[in-house]
Amino acid sequence: MTFDYDLFVIGGGSGGVRAARIAASEGGARVAMAEEYRMGGTCVIRGCVPKKLMVFAAGHGATLEEARAYGWQVEATGFDWRAFRAKLDAELTRLEGAYTRNAENAGVEIFHQRATLADPHTVLLADGRRLTARHILIATGGTPFVPPEFDGQGAMTSNEVFLMDELPGTMLIIGGGFIACEFACVLQGLGVAVTQMYRGAQILRGFDDDLRHTVAAEMGAQGVTLEVGTDLVSLERLPDGRYAASDTNGGRREFDRVLFATGRVANTGGLGLEAAGVALQENGAVKVDGWSQTNIPSIYAVGDVTDRIQLTPVAIREGHAFADTVFGGKPTQADHALVASAVFTRPEAATVGLTEEEARREGPVKIFMTSFRPMQTAFAGGTSKVMMKLVVCAASDRVLGCHIVAPGAAEMIQFAAVALKMGATKADFDRVVAVHPTMAEEIVLLRKPVREG
Ligand code: FAD
Repeated sequence: MTFDYDLFVIGGGSGGVRAARIAASEGGARVAMAEEYRMGGTCVIRGCVPKKLMVFAAGHGATLEEARAYGWQVEATGFDWRAFRAKLDAELTRLEGAYTRNAENAGVEIFHQRATLADPHTVLLADGRRLTARHILIATGGTPFVPPEFDGQGAMTSNEVFLMDELPGTMLIIGGGFIACEFACVLQGLGVAVTQMYRGAQILRGFDDDLRHTVAAEMGAQGVTLEVGTDLVSLERLPDGRYAASDTNGGRREFDRVLFATGRVANTGGLGLEAAGVALQENGAVKVDGWSQTNIPSIYAVGDVTDRIQLTPVAIREGHAFADTVFGGKPTQADHALVASAVFTRPEAATVGLTEEEARREGPVKIFMTSFRPMQTAFAGGTSKVMMKLVVCAASDRVLGCHIVAPGAAEMIQFAAVALKMGATKADFDRVVAVHPTMAEEIVLLRKPVREG
C-alpha cells in the first residue's frame, strides 16, 4: 500500500516538532504535521517561555528594592503590563516563526489546522481532506482542567494569563501545583494582591516535604496569602465583572480575577482515537509502551498526551527517541529516570531524584540538610532563607535525591542531576572543593546528617 506520507504528526508542540524534524532531516522520511493553534505548542506559546519571561519581569521589582538597600538611588514607579505584553507578544510571534521555519527547512509540510484520526493510517483535516501515512504520531499535549462546577464562569486558566489586557488588583488562584505556585509568585511580584487556595495540606504535592514547607514559608513572607486545607465552595460572577468566592472555612471574599490552576488533562477528546482503536488510560491519556507505541502498531504518542512526565525536555526526548527508532534505524527508549525539574517561585525550588519519603520506603537513609540566609539578600536586610538537602542511601552512600530552594536553584540542579545520573555517592560530594563565596558551595559542605534511619 502506498501512503501520502511516511509520518503524519498531530500537534506542533515540543514533542511533535522534534519528532517531525528528526524523522525528516535524519531519517529521510516524508513528513507532514498539523497544528490547530500556534506552532511551538504549550511551552513556547502559553507555558515555559512566556511564564519564564514573566518570572524575569517580576524578579526585577525585587532587584530594584534590593538595589536601594545596596545604596542605589532608584525608584520603581510601577510595572507597565501593557508595555511588557507588547514585547511578549512580539517575542512569541518570533519564536513561532522560528519553529515553523525550522520544521519547514527540515522538509516538514505543515497544515495549520486541526487534525483527527479516521483509522490507523488516515488523518482527517478540518478542511475535509483525508491524508494517509505509514505512521501517525499523536503529540497533542494537554489542556488545563477546570472543575466542571466552575467551568463557564469566565475564570481564567494558565492559557489566558498571558493574554490579560491589564493586571488585576486582586486575584484568587486555585491550586497547589507548580503552575499555581509560580503564577502566585509572579503576579504578587508584579503588584497583584494574590490569594492562593489549595484543598490539600501543603502545596507542591509530590515534591520533598522540606522543599514544600520552605517554598510555602517564602511565598507567605513575600505577601502571597496562602490558604492550604481550604477549598472553593462557590464562585459568583458579580454585576461589575468581579467574583465573590466562598470557601470551606466559611469565608466569602471578592476578587478582581480568578485563576484555576487545578491540573491538566490529555488532549484526546474528539481526536478520533476510538475510530482508530487506540487504547487510553483511565485519565484519558494515551497508553504507550517504552517505545512510545500505542496498541495500534502504526500509531505512536509522545509528550503530555501520554502523561508520563509533563515537561518540555521529556516530550522532546520522547519525540527524538521515536524518530530515531522508527526512521533512524537506532532503536532508542526515552529515559525517564532522574529527570530534574524546577519550580520558578521566588526563590526557585529545584529537585532531582527521590524525596525523603520515597527513599525511606526503599530502605534506611541519611538526610543532610542546611538552611541559611544567603549573603546577597541578608546584606539588604532580607529574611529570605535558602534550603539544600541531600537524601543518601545509608547502605550504599549513594545520593538518591537533591532538593534545593534558593535563588538560582534551577541552574544548580542541572549539575547535581549530572552527578546523580553518574551514581555519585555522598563521599563524592565531600571530595569536591567548594566554590567560594557562593550559595551552591553548601551542597559540598554538608558534614553531619540531620536525620538517620
Ligand atoms: P504541547 O506543547 O502542548 O503541544 C501540543 C500541540 O498540539 C499544541 O500546539 C496544540 O495546539 C496542538 N493540538 C492539539 N490537538 C490538536 C489537533 N487535533 N490537531 C492539530 N493540533 C493539535 N515544562 C517545563 O519543562 N518547564 C517549565 O517551566 C514548564 N512550565 C510550564 C508552564 C505552564 C503554564 C504550562 C501550562 C506548562 C509548563 N510546562 C513546563 C510543561 C510543558 O509546556 C509541556 O510539558 C510541553 O509543552 C509538552 O509538549 P507536547 O509536545 O507534549 O505538547
